[in-house]
Amino acid sequence: MGPLQVMKFGGTSVGDASCIARAAEIVTQAARKNACVVVVSAMSGVTNRLIEAARHAQAGNAAQAAAILDALTKQHEVALTSLVFNDADRARIRQRMEEVMAEGRRLCEGTALLRELTPRTLDVISSLGERLSSPLVASAIKGLGTMSKAIEATELIVTDAFHGSAEPQMGVTREKSQTRLRPLLEKGIVPVATGFIGATAEGQLTTLGRGGSDYSATILGAALDAEEVIIWTDVDGVLTADPRLVPEARTIPVISYREAAELAYFGAKVLHPKTLNPVVQAAIPVWIRNSFAPERPGTKITVEGRSMGGGVKALTAIRDVTLISVGGPGIVGLPDVVGRTFSTTAEVRASVLLISQSSSQNDICFIVSTADAQRTVEALRKEFAQDLAHHNVEHITTDPNIAIVAVVGENMRGIPGIAGRTFSALGREGVNLIAIAQGSSESNISFVIEEKTVKTALMTTHREFGLDAAPS
Ligand code: ADP
Ligand code: ASP
Ligand code: MG
Repeated sequence: MGPLQVMKFGGTSVGDASCIARAAEIVTQAARKNACVVVVSAMSGVTNRLIEAARHAQAGNAAQAAAILDALTKQHEVALTSLVFNDADRARIRQRMEEVMAEGRRLCEGTALLRELTPRTLDVISSLGERLSSPLVASAIKGLGTMSKAIEATELIVTDAFHGSAEPQMGVTREKSQTRLRPLLEKGIVPVATGFIGATAEGQLTTLGRGGSDYSATILGAALDAEEVIIWTDVDGVLTADPRLVPEARTIPVISYREAAELAYFGAKVLHPKTLNPVVQAAIPVWIRNSFAPERPGTKITVEGRSMGGGVKALTAIRDVTLISVGGPGIVGLPDVVGRTFSTTAEVRASVLLISQSSSQNDICFIVSTADAQRTVEALRKEFAQDLAHHNVEHITTDPNIAIVAVVGENMRGIPGIAGRTFSALGREGVNLIAIAQGSSESNISFVIEEKTVKTALMTTHREFGLDAAPS
């Protein structure tokens, strides 16, 4: 068995039959030289549709939920028909897909009946897309003459029970993945695992959070001591900014774990925020490459990325975020407000993206993703109910019309004036700054602005630091 590669294909890279065929070709080429474990996302858009179906069911609209599931069944059937020509294989996969869909139908019917959608049920419904795409990808690989088998990651990745954002337990995951996958790899079989999902030790299905297939790939990469992890997507690599917002963004050839993690954490959708956690310690390199242009080299994320170039490397923005502020003059006398605020955010597992507090301690502002905002505010109102009643805490307010922009580059430390240049450039363009934060690592300067000024802020900063021109 040669060195092991874990390869992940995102939603657009398995978006239809021709994309799946292209992905299968990439795997087949790689499998000639290496042992390969493949991780797949759902076909693009499918997870969104499944969640939509679950929401219809929750509202009691069983028929609308069923209509979505029917449309998804047809979509996968079309892909199956154009990918798999062997009758026996086709019948076997069709039956498997029917079983998965039947589970989805039953869950949507039950949900519609009760008008209640538990996080646990939502996880199972959201998982259907990966459980449908993995048999398709495995059969496409088989069609090109390489043995392959679809595997549900509930058999591989063991997580805690935090539905919707579960965390892997690496020790057991390592044991399970090795026991299940090693024998296949030794026989030259390419396992095609479902991304995005895992299961608790008791076997209850969980999901790792939206976009979590990237995380699945590095979890498996670490668990199997892979030589490298390759994330195949629809862009050439990690770019200097989101190409949808900054058309002149360029591909970065090499980037450090820390820089890539900052970008992912601050909204660069190309990587799930936790993607690099599992691989940093073992220094397993992660590549981001374009499945539509596999001849291009892509971006390599490594430890050495650190010594490359200097100054600002890339920009990113998070838009679906909400500013929450807890305060009022009364909080000056309450020494535990900060502690209680952030124990509350931790309890509801809202990840806090940025914190700012004025020295007079009148007001604590912090930012969470908009999806977490409502439950965070509800939990805070509960925690501070007494203080609000006695006006020690005067307000807990939210502002959803904001965005965070982050300027990232590991070697920014020691280069004076980056913050100054950023803020004067923004000032010239009339972008109003609401809050500013710089981590002590100095590999990130982030600022909060009004959402409507994001594009201007990104374009201005990109130009200011010559990211469109200089090689990094
Ligand atoms: P996949 O389905 O392969 O997981 P995603 O849509 O989740 O792909 O992520 C890829 C997308 O991330 C790109 O199409 C691009 O629009 C977006 N993106 C945002 N910021 C960046 C960046 N800095 N570099 C590259 N892509 C980025
Ligand atoms: N299919 C899942 C999602 O859309 C996971 C992923 O694509 O990474 O969130
Ligand atoms: Mg993704």
